Amino acid sequence: MSAVMLSEWGGELSVDTVTQPEPGPNEVRIAVRACAITRTVENAIQGGLSDDPSLLPRIPGHEFAGVIDAVGTMVSSVAPGDRVLSYFYLTCGMCQACRQGNRNQCTDFDGWVGVNCDGAYAEYATIPAANAIPIPDECSFTAAALAADGLATPLHVCERANVTDSDTVLILGGAGRIGIHLSQLAASRGANVISADVNQTQLTHIDEMTGSAVETVDASRDDFADQVQHATSYTGGPTVIVDTVGDINTIKDAWDLLGMGGCLVTLTTHHDRSFAPPLKQFIYTETSLIGSRYATSDQVIRAAQMFADNRINHVVRDTVGLDEVPAIHAQLRAGETFGTTMLTPR
Ligand SMILES: [Zn+2]
Repeated sequence: MSAVMLSEWGGELSVDTVTQPEPGPNEVRIAVRACAITRTVENAIQGGLSDDPSLLPRIPGHEFAGVIDAVGTMVSSVAPGDRVLSYFYLTCGMCQACRQGNRNQCTDFDGWVGVNCDGAYAEYATIPAANAIPIPDECSFTAAALAADGLATPLHVCERANVTDSDTVLILGGAGRIGIHLSQLAASRGANVISADVNQTQLTHIDEMTGSAVETVDASRDDFADQVQHATSYTGGPTVIVDTVGDINTIKDAWDLLGMGGCLVTLTTHHDRSFAPPLKQFIYTETSLIGSRYATSDQVIRAAQMFADNRINHVVRDTVGLDEVPAIHAQLRAGETFGTTMLTPR
């Protein structure tokens, strides 16, 4: 089969012909129909999740959906022909967090699809059966791929921060796939939504994809803080700020904008970035700083159902084949693209 290969963490991708994988006893093989090409995968390629050389060579790509093609001898939960998406994390299923349904907090965590096992920049991908989650008939493969992370992660954020119609939500990095789907989701929960990004092309993309429910502000302008304060004059600043970018200066600026009792949610996993406000600020303003880590299986399933019901629009900028994947990653690396490009390998 054809696949995109990574031979060195931080190295170049190549498109090669490799042996079609066979599922182990507890695994399934999926004929990949759609896989999102994202900044999260680029971070994994750069060694941002693991840089263990023993994991190479590796096929990246984790945000995908397809049709089960073969199952291992011990698998009974799904069968060939089932339409499924893939859960991103490799989890134990036995620890207290897994037992309680908080699979994203697994304490016997085994890594990530596309990092610790081969992913879906390929015609076929083999993953643990526990990671293959059936999708509704009405959910397209493209939407299902995005549900697996692009909407499930925003859903986890909204539930972590308890976003309601009394909130004003400011999203940093609004034109990315997390930002675009989070802004729609927060608006659907009744929140006033302000989406920030750094150039007119990206702001126009947000406007076109989210409509009048979402206000845009240019985070690159010197008067960014004034724009946000103007847009939130009746709440004294955003009550929820979600950082999808990880730029420390922007996070510091955002923290200063946070309204009384507000909450800053970070999704940043870069190893060397930290931010520590003075403790007394937490007291005087009852603000909170929280992390949000991926999503539970239940949130992934509910995300797919929201797309299937057209309650949220799935947003894809472009669709490409396997041969074009290395060039898309070069663009991601150079910061020349945003939103989601979808791989359809067959
Ligand atoms: Zn576990």
